[in-house]
Amino acid sequence: MLDFTLGGSRPTVDLSQVFDVVIIGGGPSGLTAAMYSGRYMLKTLLIEKMVVCGGQLATINSVENYPGFTKPVSGSHLAKEMENQAVKMGVQILQSQVDSVNFVNEIKKLTTPQGVVRTRAVVISTGVQPQTLDVPGEKKYMNKGVAYCATCDGHLYIDKTIAVVGGGNTALEETITLTKYAKKIFLIHRRKEFRADKIIQEKVKAIPKVELILNTVVKEIDFSNEEKKNILVSTKGQQKTFAVDGIFIFVGILPNSKLFRDTLKLEDGFVVTDKDMKTNIEGVFAAGDVRSKDLRQLTTAVGDGAISAFSVKNYLTNGNI
Ligand SMILES: Cc1cc2nc3c(=O)[nH]c(=O)nc-3n(C[C@H](O)[C@H](O)[C@H](O)COP(=O)(O)OP(=O)(O)OC[C@H]3O[C@@H](n4cnc5c(N)ncnc54)[C@H](O)[C@@H]3O)c2cc1C
Repeated sequence: MLDFTLGGSRPTVDLSQVFDVVIIGGGPSGLTAAMYSGRYMLKTLLIEKMVVCGGQLATINSVENYPGFTKPVSGSHLAKEMENQAVKMGVQILQSQVDSVNFVNEIKKLTTPQGVVRTRAVVISTGVQPQTLDVPGEKKYMNKGVAYCATCDGHLYIDKTIAVVGGGNTALEETITLTKYAKKIFLIHRRKEFRADKIIQEKVKAIPKVELILNTVVKEIDFSNEEKKNILVSTKGQQKTFAVDGIFIFVGILPNSKLFRDTLKLEDGFVVTDKDMKTNIEGVFAAGDVRSKDLRQLTTAVGDGAISAFSVKNYLTNGNI
């Protein structure tokens, strides 16, 4: 029997057993899938590679759009509560990284540094990560002026001056969202034309408070002085600074789906599912941001998580759904 001690004060997991369901990823979708699976009395293991669960949620300073909280709630607090609730339902948590998967047989195998985990069903909740600019200051001021989500952070910039970086549909749509809050927006794009659909481009160009800064790349973000936050940009070799209160970066998101690219149907790297969160492989489900969908938020992640657990229960009971 293999026994492994989990990160922190978590109990030991016996990896010799076959689980009913293993959830890969301990963000909001994975924690919800786990909590529901536990309530369905399924033998449930959640594997999270980080020391703490929560995924992107754990990085959010203040969540203001999660139902039930009239006052802002800290992301790490909400994540810990979600984890506690899952554990209360009998869910086991293994702090480890799934390095490879084998979905060929009815009993699926997940390889981790601690050994092979065997399970009858899998929920993939590996989430996404925003593509970064990789410029000095970006990491340092993440969530302190550097943002990647207009719906999440736009309200922090009411009547402020901000920069938006990117040239695709998301960047321009998020710019439109941000016009509800900011008094001035510099829309910075590295090429001479946007990649976004023409119709969205026309909308953005018609907004007086949006100033287009084309052929321009961001070189550095310097928010060290609270009174005088600057971004350094370069336009055709000429350097210039913009004084802004914040910068929103929309240069793409990267789904954490590399592990599944040879087995699952993907769309631009996102896992394709049906409305029941079922993938193209029997017994394998996906939930949350890693899924191909339009709105990536906490509420949609937890909704996906609940549906995936319901589908797992039906799959294990009836053999299909
Ligand atoms: C800065 C920021 C602010 C945001 N603000 C808001 C907001 O205010 N309101 C809102 O509704 N949404 C907000 N969001 C979006 C929200 O956080 C996401 O939609 C949500 O977290 C998605 O949950 P998820 O479980 O699908 O994925 P994630 O939160 O990305 O979690 C995925 C988890 O899987 C783990 N994982 C990945 N690969 C493996 C592997 N191979 N093995 C083991 N574990 C693995 C990761 O470590 C991670 O913990 C924000 C996002 C960011 C980045």
